[in-house]
Amino acid sequence: MPTDLHTEEAIMSFLHEIPDPEIPVIDIVELGVIREVKAEGDTVEVIITPTYSGCPAMKQMEDDIRKTLKEHGYTQIKISTVYNPPWTTDWITPEAKEKLRAYGIVPPEHSTIDKGWLTGKTKALACPRCNSKNTELVSQFGSTSCKALYKCKDCLEPFDYFKCI
Ligand SMILES: [Zn+2]
Repeated sequence: MPTDLHTEEAIMSFLHEIPDPEIPVIDIVELGVIREVKAEGDTVEVIITPTYSGCPAMKQMEDDIRKTLKEHGYTQIKISTVYNPPWTTDWITPEAKEKLRAYGIVPPEHSTIDKGWLTGKTKALACPRCNSKNTELVSQFGSTSCKALYKCKDCLEPFDYFKCI
């Protein structure tokens, strides 16, 4: 492999090519799961923090990281997982939150503001299609367990809300 590629910046740029397995409009760096990358000798280490514990997408992300870095010529790939501090939806970049909204998923609000999930109270969310606040919660679990399903009572379209944690 050319040594000039063997930098942490290059590795980060390759990781930016990997889409979130569940939400293809954002990549795993924007999702905030990549904590750090280290390039040392022949070994590339990628340190990740899982999103939701037991999220089936994490295994997929690890496989995708290995595959992508192999395609870029890296052979010694180590993936380490750290759980502390735990991942929060606040780590999703602001740009990625706007991509989510454009994709039809209401992005998580700041977790310190929105703790409605813990208390059982939910607030009115603006419909990502028509912006109406006349919306209702249909189910705490949407297409995946990290999302809740809402319905807009004006345009009648269902939509996902990416829950805060
Ligand atoms: Zn609507």
